[in-house]
Amino acid sequence: MTQSTPAITLVRGDITEQHADAVVNAANSSLLGGGGVDGAIHRKGGPEILADCRALRASRYGKGLPTGQAVATTAGRLHAAHVIHTVGPVHSTTEDRSELLASCYRESLRVAAELGARTVAFPAISTGVYGWPLDDGARIAVRTVRETAAEPVTEVRFVVFDETAYAAFETALAADA
Ligand code: ADP
Repeated sequence: MTQSTPAITLVRGDITEQHADAVVNAANSSLLGGGGVDGAIHRKGGPEILADCRALRASRYGKGLPTGQAVATTAGRLHAAHVIHTVGPVHSTTEDRSELLASCYRESLRVAAELGARTVAFPAISTGVYGWPLDDGARIAVRTVRETAAEPVTEVRFVVFDETAYAAFETALAADA
């Protein structure tokens, strides 16, 4: 039986304001918070998220969450049931790390499906502090979601902060269709 891939929507906004079953965090390997999306999610979601992250560090991820993998916690006070933390690769000009970035989207969707999520909101992973060029980051994001069957996930929402990121995703959505 072939599974259908999720419908993709694109919004300009703040990932921490999204109503979705799962919100994806562009985390770092420590799982203990950081800047950008990570800082905003912990600030708005409250201390329960960090408590879950600490528990994960103590149990399964003593050395940190490896790049390209994903793990879920509570969403605390966010308008979501779960936060899925994934660690994007730092962009490199000497090494092709695209597969690791694709893995973030794939693994996040796998975790979301396991949790029974229907709607999943993603930020543009790695395109902030981790330096990934927006056009390429958007292309990898769109292509990977289009290739990944993730039932019962029916909607993947890309949530981007500014006009430049919005344009990059619009182009990726048009080009890959
Ligand atoms: P990374 O470390 O993976 O690069 P960042 O959090 O620094 O992650 O940035 C990822 C992307 O998310 C960037 O394009 C950044 O502009 C954007 N961003 C930052 N804060 C938010 C937010 N609150 N909601 C949506 N997107 C955000």
